[in-house]
Amino acid sequence: MNKKGRRGTSTDTPLMQQYREIKAQHSDAILFFRMGDFYEMFYEDAKRASRDLGLTLTSRNNGGAAEVPLAGVPVKAAGEYLRRLVELGHKVAICEQIEDPKLAKGVVRRKVVETLTPGAVLAQDWLDGARNNYLVAVQPTNPAGIAALDLSTGEFILETADIADLDATVTRYNPREVVIPEGQRPVIQEGPMVTEREAWEYDASLATEDITRHFRLHDLEGLDIEPGDRPALQAAGALLKYVAELQPGGLPHMARPTVRRSGTTIPLDRMTKRNLELEKPLRTDAPGGTLLEVIDRTVTPMGARLVRQWLLAPLRTVSQIDRRLEAVAVLADDMRGRERVRDALDGVRDLERLSGRTAARRATPRDLGALRDSLVLLPDVRSALDGLASRETSAELTRCSHDLDLHSQLTERLCRYLVDRPPMAVGQGDSIRRGADRDVDEVRDLRDGGKQFIASLQARERERTGIASLKVGYNKVFGYYLEVSKARQHDVPEDYERRQTLTSAERYVTPELKEYEAKVLGAEEQVVQREQELLDRLCDSVRESLGKLQQTAKLLAELDVFAGLAETAVREHFVKPTVTDAYGLELRACRHPVVERMLPPGKFVPNDIILDETGRVVLLTGPNMAGKSTVLRQIGLCVVMAQMGCYVPAESATVGVVDRVFTRVGASDSLSRGQSTFMVEMSETSAILHAATVRSLILLDEIGRGTSTFDGVAIAWAVTEHLHDRIGCKTVFATHYHELTQLTETLQHSRNWNVAVKESGHDIVFLHRLEPGGSDRSYGVHVGRLAGLPNDVVGRAQEILSLLESGHHVAGRSPPTPPDSSQLGLFATDEHRVLRELRDLNPETMTPMEALNRLAEFKRLTEEQ
Ligand code: ATP
Repeated sequence: MNKKGRRGTSTDTPLMQQYREIKAQHSDAILFFRMGDFYEMFYEDAKRASRDLGLTLTSRNNGGAAEVPLAGVPVKAAGEYLRRLVELGHKVAICEQIEDPKLAKGVVRRKVVETLTPGAVLAQDWLDGARNNYLVAVQPTNPAGIAALDLSTGEFILETADIADLDATVTRYNPREVVIPEGQRPVIQEGPMVTEREAWEYDASLATEDITRHFRLHDLEGLDIEPGDRPALQAAGALLKYVAELQPGGLPHMARPTVRRSGTTIPLDRMTKRNLELEKPLRTDAPGGTLLEVIDRTVTPMGARLVRQWLLAPLRTVSQIDRRLEAVAVLADDMRGRERVRDALDGVRDLERLSGRTAARRATPRDLGALRDSLVLLPDVRSALDGLASRETSAELTRCSHDLDLHSQLTERLCRYLVDRPPMAVGQGDSIRRGADRDVDEVRDLRDGGKQFIASLQARERERTGIASLKVGYNKVFGYYLEVSKARQHDVPEDYERRQTLTSAERYVTPELKEYEAKVLGAEEQVVQREQELLDRLCDSVRESLGKLQQTAKLLAELDVFAGLAETAVREHFVKPTVTDAYGLELRACRHPVVERMLPPGKFVPNDIILDETGRVVLLTGPNMAGKSTVLRQIGLCVVMAQMGCYVPAESATVGVVDRVFTRVGASDSLSRGQSTFMVEMSETSAILHAATVRSLILLDEIGRGTSTFDGVAIAWAVTEHLHDRIGCKTVFATHYHELTQLTETLQHSRNWNVAVKESGHDIVFLHRLEPGGSDRSYGVHVGRLAGLPNDVVGRAQEILSLLESGHHVAGRSPPTPPDSSQLGLFATDEHRVLRELRDLNPETMTPMEALNRLAEFKRLTEEQ
């Protein structure tokens, strides 16, 4: 690349000078520079786009100086290219011509009208309807502030959280892009695109100014913002400034902020979310599923987004959980009523995104049609809701019915103006219904009359010329023409003027045809113009009702989730849990909702799970493959389900609310962060021990496995004691360290459970049944054989196992001593030497001094160990 050329030269053409000025203001983005029917990219942008989009890289002569690398995409096809670039994590600035090139004196004026980033996408067809697309700004103070905006729906959230929960809180939004203060990159652990902004932008007064201006308010009073929400407002300062740069045209559809404070929901950290496979399977290459797939039976995109939000943010307050459960119960118990509600909701499109796009005047006529088609269903939703048998027993459903706005005037207006199936773009067919507007009808008649006249010309000209094959046609370049085959071209009259020559025919125009063509095209242009005016007015009406439409969308989403959860409850045979403020958890005949689905019907073995104050720490042992991890996960899932307001897979369930759920199952791969597997395991365990309270639920699947057996057992032992003695929370610890089962002798509130197997000859049968008591065998060698280990390896492993097992010995509350393995020659320790020497020693023949010296020597040896 010619560096001189990039910086600008005195020989730059005026166009390139303009390009350079605009590019300098958008140096971090790929610049789509509008030139006629193309968006052109230059220099590095052109190279990157040609690499990522497979475009041909050409060059442009810049006023005789340097050759400038160039790549371009046609404006008509730009959407797809933009989508791909943004998906690859690029920022793209779109620079338009802002004056008519025919009227421009000198270089056409241009301006960046919009910048697209992964977090700032408005186009509905780029997005997954079932997910929000949040742009999240973070203020990493303590407490931390979070401001989240979904540009596609306009949803705007302010949230404060304990700094320790920042990662878990940000993860809940699943953002595509996170905005952080300059130099604070470590606050975000992994994942999305990170954009750094200057620290001064994290200013609460900046946000206050923006918010009050946007919503035309005097102050923030009435928005439920309290002094404690200041960090979130600071984050909003940076967020709104950034968004204003990306969307200079403003965001008319931004909704009033919703305020969330820590304590209302339970934070689920990255690890727990992943281990419980709430919305993503642990492995994408193996069959399996997620809890979301099992419970999501919503029928609208708004409902699908909300059920995901609820799942990732289980509630903490019994009364709030009960309100949701009661709504689900009414719908679960009334099959006909539930069906009516779901049927009415079924045709409702993405009201939230559609109204946002319409208010921002980005809607196509088809979008407006979809909005109308959704609004006309509201009366059906209302009557279905009012027809529910015992609706009044649910506060939430009563609220829904009371607050549901039918938007009758807006619906009537949209119905009056829009045709039944509006086209994708204005001019690609009629958008406005005949009879709705006199002006449109008039110009349309003119257009159609002209078209008819032209069509009738064919018969008249055939008669006049005697050419039976003469045809009237139209194409975009040459307009209307009379087509005559080559063979008859000598018969055309004198007033025929040649327009185009084809291999087998000639195309002509006549003065009369030209006159009518001008009339038709003029009228066509007027139709488009008038239709556009009317559509813009419809958009403005939508904008006037935007706040209410967003509320309606929210309400429909809630209703959809209630009805969807009820449908799931019935179909999956889930039960309504009793949620209490007490400590205990009691799940009778409980199942794992996802594993159950993977097995043939009736094959999943249900189990009773009881954790209470007298048995709060459970040590879960059992052979490999018995089902320990499944039990652990099903406990976590049931608690999350109950606290989000969902029925649970059990015969009966009583759930004492928890303030956190922690799961640690196997080590997650953080090698890229430069930590060893064991180090990661220990940091995760340490994070749990620091954050857990007596009201937490901890599910551990083997800890201390990534080190030596002694270190591992010692750590697992000490962690269990700490959980039992110091924290006292409900804990289930699945382990293959059978030594740990002895802990129940000394830890008063602990219990042993095992997952039973039956030995049958050389084989074992997995019963998947939970039983009281510990197990002392892992049957690992047996599972190794099932997995196809060579016979000699299995045989030798069996031999070694028998030797190790014969030396097994455990004492008291202290960590167990290792197996006596001297027969294997594996562990020759100093302790043995001390014991041996002690045994050989004869105290009667020793002087007191000698005895004292030997004692000191023994002590040294044991300390060195
Ligand atoms: P390991 O100790 O080797 O990790 P594990 O004891 O944790 O094994 P899981 O992974 O929980 O075992 O379960 C192994 C398989 O057993 C599961 O994939 C599932 O197919 C089956 N399984 C587990 N629990 C049950 C159950 N209650 N009923 C029927 N099948 C079950």
